Amino acid sequence: MGLLYLGTSLTWAEAKKYAAHVRHHGITQFLHIWDRLKDRTGDELLWGDEVEYLVISLDDKEKNAKLSLRQTEILAKLNAIVDDICADCPENVSVPKFHPEYGRYMLESTPGSPYTGSISDLLSVEGNMRYRRTLARKHLKVNEIPLTFTSFPRLGAPGQFTEPGFDPNHATSSHSLFLPEEITNPHARFPTLTANIRTRRGSKVAINLPIFFDEKTPRPFIDPTIPWDRDIYPEDSEAKSGAALPDHVYMDAMGFGMGCCCLQLTFQACNVADARRLYDGLIPIGPILLALTAASPAWRGYLADVDCRWNVVAGSVDDRTDEERGLKELKNDRFRIPKSRYDSVDLYLSTEWTNRPEYNDTDVPYDPEIYERLRKHGLDALLSKHMAHLFIRDPLVIFSETIDQDDATSSDHFENLQSTNWQTLRFKPPPPNSSIGWRVEFRSMEVQITDFENAAFAVFVVLLSRAILYFNLNFYIPISKVDQNMQTAQKRDAARSEKFYFRKDVYPHDGSPGSSAASISSGQFSPPKNSGHKQKKLGNCFTPPGPPVNGELQIPVEDEYELMTMDGIINGKGDSFPGLLRLISAYLDTLDMDAEAAARIELYLDLIRSRANGSLDTTATWIRNFIRSHPAYKFDSVISQEINYDLLLAVDEIERGVRQEKSLIPEHYTGGIKDGGSIGL
Ligand code: ADP
Ligand code: MG
Ligand code: MG
Ligand code: MG
Ligand code: MG
Ligand code: MG
Repeated sequence: MGLLYLGTSLTWAEAKKYAAHVRHHGITQFLHIWDRLKDRTGDELLWGDEVEYLVISLDDKEKNAKLSLRQTEILAKLNAIVDDICADCPENVSVPKFHPEYGRYMLESTPGSPYTGSISDLLSVEGNMRYRRTLARKHLKVNEIPLTFTSFPRLGAPGQFTEPGFDPNHATSSHSLFLPEEITNPHARFPTLTANIRTRRGSKVAINLPIFFDEKTPRPFIDPTIPWDRDIYPEDSEAKSGAALPDHVYMDAMGFGMGCCCLQLTFQACNVADARRLYDGLIPIGPILLALTAASPAWRGYLADVDCRWNVVAGSVDDRTDEERGLKELKNDRFRIPKSRYDSVDLYLSTEWTNRPEYNDTDVPYDPEIYERLRKHGLDALLSKHMAHLFIRDPLVIFSETIDQDDATSSDHFENLQSTNWQTLRFKPPPPNSSIGWRVEFRSMEVQITDFENAAFAVFVVLLSRAILYFNLNFYIPISKVDQNMQTAQKRDAARSEKFYFRKDVYPHDGSPGSSAASISSGQFSPPKNSGHKQKKLGNCFTPPGPPVNGELQIPVEDEYELMTMDGIINGKGDSFPGLLRLISAYLDTLDMDAEAAARIELYLDLIRSRANGSLDTTATWIRNFIRSHPAYKFDSVISQEINYDLLLAVDEIERGVRQEKSLIPEHYTGGIKDGGSIGL
């Protein structure tokens, strides 16, 4: 979430008047950054994770696991403690940061300062995450626990699901039938976002997830828990006039999506060109890792027939009007917009020769005036279109105190639009007045139950990002196929049962280190030997050589990709495709690492390998199996209060290492409490 100002936030009717102003100055601010930093180069790898938590309040008497709404108090306490711990720390020691999130029951934590490319930092990720969790856990009430759990199964279900309980009849910003106002972080930004999305759209958001039809689920499924006839807010009738679909779990508020937890990673690049290369390289990986981290099969008290949060979040902030969504002729609005502001990436960005124009094959509306302005300023067509596309949106939250800014020193108007385009990847320009470089944020993953797993996915992605840059790997497939993969990724059991579009030949054929590996036809991926000079750190600056001198014989784009299984993509398939893990091993071979470090990393990669080949369940599959085998489950898709309670207790026990689930977590996992204490303090 963006910065939190203190100030007076404008209603949509007011804010709308300043939309053009914010866009204009936002672009001016971006251009100031561009002019100063477009040629900046040589930045080292710095990177970091963001982990989000649900704070659960356990009521053992009633057997109820509720969402604790104490975010404000908890954050105040944690931040005071963190300040205390490090009042006189040496400069190189930093303590974790805790941040607010949309849900008033959520916390976010990040490492106190970013990790560097050192091997020891790579190995410290899990301990860092555990330390943050331990700190949070220690300073909650005795009956509260911090869970890294993507979606709370009974959010918006009948009965009490928050502590304290509140009535949804007073949901003044969302007008939800299910979620009370108090679910939302009370800072003006969040209720204003919620209300302004609803007002701009002209109706409540409407999310419908297909129900998981179990043996005794009634057909058709007409949800008896929807207050169909409530009559408090004008939007109350939407449910019965078509917004709530039969055979689906219907959700009608921002909180259902933005109240979910995820795992994000941010990488600093050597320079803007590398940031664009990395951004593109990770775009096709977004849906693959969404499927592999799938962790959210349970919504509003029901089992759904999907395993992931993505479409729920996309729907939960979908502020497009009927005209923009193509339901009415365009009259008052400027664009037909195919996707929500929260969705997968729309454009590849790199100016490398490998980025063929055919890959950007979807309908991407953009603001022609902003595009022309950026072009005239000297920006290339791709980056101009990217920004002009993000800037078709309206700014949703404006504070009256910050309308006029110094565009040379502020980036607030730019960030207003940038940070409310929530895509699978985010291309982050450096903030003004900081030493931070060009960064790329990877945003598709669902959070896992243990920090061992979260660290494993973080390590996998950072190593893959290095392999992409070092070997100059080519993962391009058309954006339309990435979009299809996003939908496939969310299907029930996608990691085991579905196939994903992926590029067949991932080597660049241009003389860069990866192209010698084209000897893959023999099944051997052999990166160039580093003549004994193995690197001590994960590198950051690898200039690709540019197009091959004789020109690359390009085959039709449709012949460049095919459908592959998750196992094939991650673990490879025979001689024809190396698999992402083999690419990572080849990169690890270029590093100077002792046997112990290598063994630790292997444990992480082995988790990814096992989830991909199906020998371990995804989190979503494990949750679904837990619910379906609970003695109180009636095979009617309903997750009762008691089942929810037992599930969340089990999740906590898994994390602490007191409950073994061999289908989910490798047996060597000993639990987050052990080894949770120190990050060198
Ligand atoms: P946001 O919520 O805007 O995505 P956060 O500030 O919550 O961003 O998290 C940003 C992440 O980026 C953190 O893990 C942080 O450690 C990391 N980070 C901070 N500075 C840099 C940098 N210069 N390069 C890369 N990552 C960084
Ligand atoms: Mg967050
Ligand atoms: Mg954050
Ligand atoms: Mg932030
Ligand atoms: Mg979030
Ligand atoms: Mg983030």
